[in-house]
Amino acid sequence: MRVFVTGGAGFIGSAVCRHFVQDLGFSVVNFDKLTYAANLSSLREIQDRPEYHFIEGDICQGEQVLAALREHRIDALIHLAAESHVDRSIDGPADCITTNIVGTYALLQAARTYWETDLNKDPKFRFHHVSTDEVYGDLPFNETKFTEQTAYAPSSPYSASKAASDHLVQAWHSTYGLPILMSNCSNNYGPYHFPEKLIPLMILNGLAGEPLPIYGTGQNVRDWLHVEDHARALALILQQGQVGETYNIGADQEFTNIAVVERICDCLDAQRPLPTSHRELIEFVADRPGHDRRYAIDATKLRTELDWKPHYTFEQGLDETVEWYLNNEWWWRPIREERYAGQRLGKLSQAAKV
Ligand code: NAD
Repeated sequence: MRVFVTGGAGFIGSAVCRHFVQDLGFSVVNFDKLTYAANLSSLREIQDRPEYHFIEGDICQGEQVLAALREHRIDALIHLAAESHVDRSIDGPADCITTNIVGTYALLQAARTYWETDLNKDPKFRFHHVSTDEVYGDLPFNETKFTEQTAYAPSSPYSASKAASDHLVQAWHSTYGLPILMSNCSNNYGPYHFPEKLIPLMILNGLAGEPLPIYGTGQNVRDWLHVEDHARALALILQQGQVGETYNIGADQEFTNIAVVERICDCLDAQRPLPTSHRELIEFVADRPGHDRRYAIDATKLRTELDWKPHYTFEQGLDETVEWYLNNEWWWRPIREERYAGQRLGKLSQAAKV
């Protein structure tokens, strides 16, 4: 299969490229704009393989996408390119709206043109849109989990833009018949995660003996999914999912933020002890505006219809992730020094820009 991966230099996209090339023998064209969140060194293991090809490009440029689809005679497209950070979407929503909504529209149009004119509407073509559980919004602690039928109620500029893109993808299926698949997954973690997100930020701050800032009271709950389990689920959906269907992806691993950070501290205490426990570095800071209390995914459909199950428990995956950061300073050190040093984002401190 020749797969076009948008956002393949990002956290999840690079895991998808590695899995597709190394484990499944697919040919991959990684199409990525190389924003601050991208890192081509995450693809070091496959960058010289003949099945892997990189194109620097912007999904908002439909002509460029169409030319690449044609040149590489693509069989399936998996769309991960996005402005993916909630805090950055609060500070500056424009990039989020442009890439996540306008970019998805441009990509859909390019894929539709390619599918209609070059593939003669081949029903085997797939446009797989990768989305998030954040589109479902704030889940109270006493309620059940998100299913594929849960109504959308996004809270942040990021999740609203992803919700909009989900609706566009569904509409291109209903209106033009484009063979789409959708998946909405919970919070990912694992190796090669950009150090502004909770888990890598806490590991790297902890290693440096710097404060570990936790939003609010730390009681917000996230449902954690190892990025390699996500990549395996995406491959399964791409190959066996029913056209037009949505699949929720989650591993039933709900933890409060404070519990996550305490476990990271305990791992660091064991591996790189300080005179006092790393837990002493924890600081509670002003909450994120619009901070959803809880996300939790019901992945019954994926488990029963496609027989998927995760390999990782959160405890095992988190311990291995801490270990990975300890052993791979070559990857994260340049990012911490040149791109993001751990400063607070998304505090509503900036005036709105028109
Ligand atoms: P990321 O921020 O690590 O990577 C995004 C990638 O997209 C980057 O390499 C960036 O350069 C690229 N990109 C951004 N704008 C682009 C454009 N206009 N054209 C081409 N490339 C562009 O994101 P991630 O965490 O890997 O998330 C990937 C996808 O999965 C996103 O769509 C996100 O909404 C979704 N998702 C992420 C999570 C999570 O926990 N990280 C959970 C659920 C869903």
